[in-house]
Amino acid sequence: MSQAVTLTTDIFIVGSGAAGMSAAVSASASGASVIVADDREVPGGVLRQCVHSGFGLGRYGREMTGPEYSEEEFRHFEQSSAVYFPKCRVISIGSDRTALVSSPDGLRRISFIECILASGCIERPLWSLPVAGTRPEGVYTAGEIQEMIEIGGYDTGDRIFILGSGDIGQIMARRFVQLGKTVIGMAEQKAEPGGMKRNQEECIKAYDIPVILNSTVTEVHGFPHLTGVTLRHLDSGTEELIECDTLITALGLEPDKSLAEGLKTSDGYPEWLHFCGNADFVHEIADSASAQGEKLGRSTAEHILVSRKEV
Ligand SMILES: Cc1cc2nc3c(=O)[nH]c(=O)nc-3n(C[C@H](O)[C@H](O)[C@H](O)COP(=O)(O)OP(=O)(O)OC[C@H]3O[C@@H](n4cnc5c(N)ncnc54)[C@H](O)[C@@H]3O)c2cc1C
Repeated sequence: MSQAVTLTTDIFIVGSGAAGMSAAVSASASGASVIVADDREVPGGVLRQCVHSGFGLGRYGREMTGPEYSEEEFRHFEQSSAVYFPKCRVISIGSDRTALVSSPDGLRRISFIECILASGCIERPLWSLPVAGTRPEGVYTAGEIQEMIEIGGYDTGDRIFILGSGDIGQIMARRFVQLGKTVIGMAEQKAEPGGMKRNQEECIKAYDIPVILNSTVTEVHGFPHLTGVTLRHLDSGTEELIECDTLITALGLEPDKSLAEGLKTSDGYPEWLHFCGNADFVHEIADSASAQGEKLGRSTAEHILVSRKEV
């Protein structure tokens, strides 16, 4: 078996979304050597699939789409001395300060002084809920379907039902209507719709999306393709069958700290491991993820340079 090629760097960053790119730019501008790995080919993370406007007002003073915001961040990233490894999935991070990376050219081992996890977040899937029935095609998380449509160029079914009324679900509800699909409704278990006020106005109200409050999906029907779902009204306990060919879930996001799982002890995470962007907590606004990455990149680089001078 061939040995993994070993590379060394001051700071190793996992993820090149808004947070990872800005951390890389500020860390390298502060004098640290930086390697950034991302499993996607092009930097930007979720920004590239968010084709709607609403980005950049705080950071750039103008309204941009996600891809436009990503381009701006990429201009700085590209000009920095940070080294970018695209299509490289970080498989593990060890307590000996090395990361194992699966790259198109084989395995790489990265040896680092400090590591920044900017790996984004994960969406809670439908199957995390007690939902009975089949496991058919046609069930997607909102982020998954957004990436499939906006980056992959795929189509979906025509009769869409959405479970959960978070921001991504609302944004996708609007997008489906724009694409000529029928959004039958959006079920929300709470008594109020979720998400930001802006999205409630611009996506739900403006596009007449029916929101069915105090309700949830309890069963999925059809195989191999989805044909419908059972909707339970939580206040009355009654159930109805909704016929649909696509079910989208917008059940919330969780920071993706999976790479750090084995590193946590009773004292917490090692002092050389840092989190930023959605891997730390879910940022509703990209500006906030970028600002956090920028600050963390700078302070991490300064810490390394000060320690070096002291030796
Ligand atoms: C649908 C949606 C709409 C939004 N709308 C707005 C809006 O209107 N205005 C606004 O300001 N903000 C909006 N946001 C929020 C903003 O886009 C995010 O907060 C921000 O982009 C998160 O950046 P990040 O770098 O933390 O994570 P991400 O963009 O998720 O980047 C993480 C990167 O890490 C990579 N990665 C993960 N694990 C690994 C691994 N093991 N190995 C290698 N690479 C890995 C991923 O592929 C990804 O490229 C929206 C977000 C979504 C999802």
